[in-house]
This record gives sequence, C-alpha cells and structure tokens, in this order.
Amino acid sequence: MNIILFGPPGAGKGTQAKLLQDKYSIPHLSTGDIFRTAIKNQTPLGVKVKSILDAGQLVPDETVVDLVADELKDPKYDSGFILDGFPRTVPQAEAFDEIAENQNKAIDAFVVLTVPEKELISRILSRGQGRTDDTEEKIKTRLEVYHEETEPVQNHYSSKGVVKEIDGIGTIDEIFERIASSLK
Ligand code: ADP
Repeated sequence: MNIILFGPPGAGKGTQAKLLQDKYSIPHLSTGDIFRTAIKNQTPLGVKVKSILDAGQLVPDETVVDLVADELKDPKYDSGFILDGFPRTVPQAEAFDEIAENQNKAIDAFVVLTVPEKELISRILSRGQGRTDDTEEKIKTRLEVYHEETEPVQNHYSSKGVVKEIDGIGTIDEIFERIASSLK
C-alpha cells in the first residue's frame, strides 16, 4: 500500500506514520527527518538546507523531488511506503505523478489529518522536541507557507479519488483507528 500522509505542521503525521509503519510493515519516508539528519551530520545536503529549515521556509522543489525519486528506488519501498512531508507544493505533486508512473508506484490513499490552527500551535509549542523551527514566530511562518503552498496539493489528489479526510482531534489511538478503518 502506498500512502501519503498530509496535513499542517503539528497535525501528528510523524506519530501516525510510525504506527502505520508498524501495522502494515511498510517504511515511513519523512522528508523533514531526512533534512534534519542531514543537518545534524553536516552533509552537503544539510549545509544547503539548514538556513531554509531554520526560517520555516520550503526547500526548493527540485532538491526535494530528486531526493524522493532517488530514495524510492530503494527496494525496501517496493511493497509500499508512507510518505510524510511530501509532496508539499503542486509542482512537487506533479513531479511525483511522473515518478510514480515511471516507478510503478500509484498512490492508494492520501490521508489528510485535519486539526484546527489553535490546537496546532499549542501542540508544537508543547511537544518540546527542541527543533529550531518550533518557535512561535517560525510556526506562524510554517502555517502561512502551508496554507499558500501546501494546501492546494489536496485538490491535486481529489480528482484521483484517493483522499481520506480524518479528524485529527482525539487520542493518538483514536486517530490511528480512524486512519486504519479509512484504509480498509
Ligand atoms: P512540519 O510539517 O511539522 O513543519 P517536517 O518535518 O515535515 O515538519 O518539515 C520540516 C521542514 O523541512 C519544513 O518546514 C521545510 O523547510 C522542510 N521540508 C520538508 N519536506 C519538504 C518538502 N517536501 N518540500 C520543501 N521543504 C520541505
């Protein structure tokens, strides 16, 4: 099963992705995690994207698309994957359509976690992961970028008939149950 987990910063994508990974035994691919690891290890990619992540802005489409296209060639993704944090712009979604076609990896479900904005901000501020982009100012920037650049990606998938809207308010287990039943 090939799944895209979608939703604003703080919606719980990372948490739910890990649960899905365990239940369905398919790997979780988080572009944000890849960037944070690259920054920590000071790789050329990390050096390139550090100031962008710190500012709460988006990494250029081409960089992300190349990265995902390359990563998905790993045979571990052959039996499915959970994409988290990608595609995040309409051009990324269009580029991904091509990748998916070339690599024979059609998306089965586009899972949208919906959470009100106030709740998002308080969740991020209280999760205390020590991320440099988790300050109130940077969260506001990330939410703005989300509304402008990322939200339109949902429309791109509506026409494919794969969108599942999930209420992202509740306990972690309740939300996971909702996602799992939407995938049946
Ligand atoms: P969140 O959604 O909680 O903000 P992520 O871990 O998904 O966190 O992403 C963190 C940051 O990594 C983003 O603010 C952005 O700078 C960068 N990033 C991750 N995925 C992408 C992407 N697909 N396109 C552009 N930038 C990305």
